[in-house]
Amino acid sequence: MTESDFGFDGVDEAVIRRERAKARELRKSSWWRNKLDQGRCHYCGQAIPPKQLTMDHVVPLSRGGTSTKANLVTTCKDCNNRKKTMLPLEWEEYMAHLDQQRAER
Ligand SMILES: [Zn+2]
Repeated sequence: MTESDFGFDGVDEAVIRRERAKARELRKSSWWRNKLDQGRCHYCGQAIPPKQLTMDHVVPLSRGGTSTKANLVTTCKDCNNRKKTMLPLEWEEYMAHLDQQRAER
């Protein structure tokens, strides 16, 4: 395994810690509560009870993403777990597959 397999593209750990703290603050905001109330997973589009939704960075912090409202989405646990364990390319393929399924419906 090389270092890039971990997804750390030279992003400073201090930056990641700061962005994680920002995400924690945003999680307490009414903006986030509103998103939870919408009860939908950003990735698979399924209706999910707010309590089962988790916060996800679309562009991971380890890849230079930041804790901005535009980069934070609600996801179901399934999608969140899949995204964590997949390589970015696999995840893109998975998303394309979901889009295709939706178009066929
Ligand atoms: Zn989902």
